[in-house]
Amino acid sequence: MNKPLISVKDLTVRFHTDEGLITAVDNVSFDIAPGEVLGLVGESGSGKSVTAKSLMQLNAGNTQYDEKSSIILNVDDQEIDVLSLKNDSELRIVRGGAISMIFQEPMASFAPAITIGDQMVEQLLIHSSMTKKEASEFSIEMLERVGIPDASQRFKQYAFEFSGGMRQRAMIAMALSTKPQLLIADEPTTALDVTIQAQVIDLMKDLVSEFGMGILFITHDLGVIAQTADRVAVMYLGNLIETGTVRQVIREPHHPYTLGLLNALPKLDDLEAPLTPVPGDIPSPLERPSGCVFHTRCPQNLGARCETEIPKLLKGAKNRMTACHLVEENGASKS
Ligand code: SF4
Repeated sequence: MNKPLISVKDLTVRFHTDEGLITAVDNVSFDIAPGEVLGLVGESGSGKSVTAKSLMQLNAGNTQYDEKSSIILNVDDQEIDVLSLKNDSELRIVRGGAISMIFQEPMASFAPAITIGDQMVEQLLIHSSMTKKEASEFSIEMLERVGIPDASQRFKQYAFEFSGGMRQRAMIAMALSTKPQLLIADEPTTALDVTIQAQVIDLMKDLVSEFGMGILFITHDLGVIAQTADRVAVMYLGNLIETGTVRQVIREPHHPYTLGLLNALPKLDDLEAPLTPVPGDIPSPLERPSGCVFHTRCPQNLGARCETEIPKLLKGAKNRMTACHLVEENGASKS
């Protein structure tokens, strides 16, 4: 059996804060195969970004990974234990090497006082054996590939001279120029207007099939996931609560939270249909509810069992997984 590109097992991430130890990610496990797009979905505060940053050890200095946590990256017949990487030179294997990350706000990726070209070249000099001239030519080629007109001129400009959509394209060009095996895309289209969003999604899909990389695509928007991902993992308050193929999860959600996210989406075929938001707000991680972490907002809360017993993420038919007592009692997780 082929090894997954990355295998995350029992990932638990806590932060030391003035208020105490906060659990941001709780016992999360998932794999991504080479060439697969996994969509990680959830509201702000669900732990998506902390999970993603863990794959490159990019979380803040006050982070504590539970000792059971494991992240194994399989690249070039090598098995890299990501959480055991310590110093900068070891971490460079994953940061900008085997893994690249693109962010919602591309200004966060570019130093404002250095030209886009110089930043792209510097990254290639660190992560490849190219000469400066080769790195410059390849960077211009990548800018052209992502549809930036006058790429050789744009190469000499600063990030502030680019429009929002153009900056996003430049960031994708920079992230892909080192040919990473895994791309982490953290809300890459959220700040863009809808037409540019569609262009960027199409561009990413094209480049993924050409480069054959795996992608972890993070978003709160199930509509974007439907267009981009092969499989979906839904997170709530640091827990993985449902996984499955896009078709399974979007057509027939099992977990009440996933159903709530879908009911909150506008329906183009029925503009009169009322939007039904998930009631209440996601609780503070300092006040994690007992039992099922969703029980304080769940319209189908079963009472004592939901409020005291943590539901396990159980495998059902066709490799779907759901963490919900109701689903378990109804037999869907065993079918
Ligand atoms: Fe709702 Fe209970 Fe399922 Fe949690 S375990 S999602 S509270 S029904």
